[in-house]
Amino acid sequence: MEIVTILWSLGAAVAIVMAAVCGGLWLIEPRDRTTLMLCILGVATAVSAYLEFGMRHSATAAEYGEWLRWYYLPSGLALVSMVLFVHYYLGTGRVWLMYAAIFARSVVVVVNFLVHPNFGFSEIVSLRSVSLFGEQVSAIGVAVSSERQWFAVASMILLIAYLTDAATQRWLKGGWESRRKALAVSLGILVPLLCTTMYGYLLFFGVLQGALSTLPWFLGALLTMAYELGRDVILNRRARLELAEARAQLAQVERISVLGQLASTLAHELAQPLAATSANVDAALTQIGGKKPDLEELSSILRDIGNDHRRASKIINRMRALFKRHSIELKPLSVEDVVQDVALLIRPEATSKHVVLDLLMQPGLPLVFGDRVHLSQVLLNLLMNSLHAVQCRPLDARRITVEARANDAKGEVEVTVKDSGPGIPDSLVDEVFKPFFTTKSEGMGIGLALSRTIIEVHGGRLWFELAAQQDGAVFHFTLRRAAERALNVETHFVSDKNESLVASPPRA
Ligand code: ADP
Repeated sequence: MEIVTILWSLGAAVAIVMAAVCGGLWLIEPRDRTTLMLCILGVATAVSAYLEFGMRHSATAAEYGEWLRWYYLPSGLALVSMVLFVHYYLGTGRVWLMYAAIFARSVVVVVNFLVHPNFGFSEIVSLRSVSLFGEQVSAIGVAVSSERQWFAVASMILLIAYLTDAATQRWLKGGWESRRKALAVSLGILVPLLCTTMYGYLLFFGVLQGALSTLPWFLGALLTMAYELGRDVILNRRARLELAEARAQLAQVERISVLGQLASTLAHELAQPLAATSANVDAALTQIGGKKPDLEELSSILRDIGNDHRRASKIINRMRALFKRHSIELKPLSVEDVVQDVALLIRPEATSKHVVLDLLMQPGLPLVFGDRVHLSQVLLNLLMNSLHAVQCRPLDARRITVEARANDAKGEVEVTVKDSGPGIPDSLVDEVFKPFFTTKSEGMGIGLALSRTIIEVHGGRLWFELAAQQDGAVFHFTLRRAAERALNVETHFVSDKNESLVASPPRA
């Protein structure tokens, strides 16, 4: 096989692979039109390579004319996709100029199929044999060019004017990144376009003798722009990772701050089982040291020690999980488990402030996609805010309710936190989700902003009801359900009055 055939086949193969990769990227992110344009450019480049191959191996002028006529289609498509790529990629340049260039080029392609033998020539009389990389290939020998060709020249001038305008405007925007992009487009598309167009017209008007080819330019532009997009993807990914890391750090700081607020009641909560265990150990030793140890009493003491130990470990484990730095990992999990985790940590604080905490869990709730630590953080934030809000109410009117229900129609689970505090005043409706907004003297003002981000990363929503619609504040958040499970619409009720979190009384 001759070297030209090998090179052009390789070029076409590379273009097809690039088109497939860019097409795949576009299917993943359809809003990014730059990848779609590169996909079209890749296909057009490969088809152009095939048609160039046909022209080069034409035996007669008529055959050559027919290949050339089809050649207008992929080359027109390649030009339009390049112009649109620059438009989406740089976001600069006069739009009317772009549309004028696309329109003119489309006219060339359409008229090309209405005339004979093609847009540029009135007649191709004969072919000549020229050498391309050592291979003898066919090129136009004697031909009569058409007056229409000046329209094609004008369309190329419009195209070059638009690309120059877009690159210049981008360059003038200043900044290293803008200038780098403007330079990439100039060197990758504009300069080769100028060179190829001039070479094409020199061939066309018979000044030069050689084989017509746009493949090196199309392929070069495709690879340069694909490199640019790849670079952008890597930089975006890096920026996203850095943002996620910063968010994880902020979330950890916020969790530690909330746990700091709960520290004294949690320490008290842990001191109780420890004191009870110590007293129970003494009681057990006394029994063993006696003449006739009561084995039943001994086993009951040991059971109590075991229960106290488990309860204290549970609290410590939940706290330890929240102290750790942790990026969001979505897994199927039970909302009820998250609510119970948080209730375990917050209940001592609620009890010390005379707040009744009710948990209303719909039985058979479906699993949701979520991260246990981050969802605990959201719930902890909402409950800490509610605990703070109900402080202004009399002791017997302090109530917080956490409710979880499945919303079958939307395929979600909705969690509601409702309190009997004063609610969110109308004047603050637009403020509370803003970072660093707080009405508390010791508040950081990032709880709600962070919670909303966490829920949005989970694909859910976090919002509150307007004050006019209810007494107190009502916050809702939704989570996508992970799997189907049998649903029972009844709710079951767990009040802190029913659930004992008090350490077992030590034996005398
Ligand atoms: P912080 O708790 O540090 O103030 P947040 O972002 O959690 O930060 O809350 C912002 C503000 O929203 C609070 O300072 C408060 O004014 C208001 N807010 C939040 N939850 C409630 C609630 N349950 N009742 C009344 N106001 C609330």
